[in-house]
Amino acid sequence: MKKVLVLEDESSIRSFVVINLRRSGYEPIEAATGEEAFEQIKKNPDIKVALLDIMLPDTDGFEVCRHIRASGSKMGIIMLTARTQEMDKVTGLMTGADDYVTKPFSPAELTARIDALYRRVGGEDEEESGEIVRGIFKLNTRNRSLEKNGERIRLTQVEYSIVKLFMDNPGKALSREEILNAVWGKDYLGELKIVDVNIRRLRIKVEDDPTNPSYITTVWGYGYKWGF
Ligand code: CA
Repeated sequence: MKKVLVLEDESSIRSFVVINLRRSGYEPIEAATGEEAFEQIKKNPDIKVALLDIMLPDTDGFEVCRHIRASGSKMGIIMLTARTQEMDKVTGLMTGADDYVTKPFSPAELTARIDALYRRVGGEDEEESGEIVRGIFKLNTRNRSLEKNGERIRLTQVEYSIVKLFMDNPGKALSREEILNAVWGKDYLGELKIVDVNIRRLRIKVEDDPTNPSYITTVWGYGYKWGF
């Protein structure tokens, strides 16, 4: 999982960022204070990118950034600044930040910056090896194929995208809307039913007993979950 620390004390902004990161295949790790941020970093040494708000209740983002760098960490750091003064940006970069984003920012802008930084800090191990392994399933992201217990399963492009989405969100219930948006795009005009149709087809391919699915389970009234 591509973990991104989101340090932001304003819960509305934090959840906005978190939702958009999830949608882009990242695993957001939330913190509302500097102290929480350090706890999360300790618990999640594989965090590759951190988003740091500047104005925090117990400290400021520059201080957090300085601490992260002082610990020898090479994680990518993006400062979230509400202010537009050049000084803040300069201070942020001086304390060891890699980039900054000025609020209010669009989800597209933020993810583009994170994607770029992630590539730079070499966070794409998964993409480099070309394999995502979850339980008995192995997804090859290069030739876009799936293996179950070493046996090749042929997937359509849409099925591949759905499996990839599940693998990027292991054990997480995904709403049908979420799946539709991630796989078909937000501008898709079709019906949600297309999700169910593809899940049904996918089950025939991956389940031992498609009528009694054990991998892709239905979350009633919501969507689906892949328990690996
Ligand atoms: Ca703040």
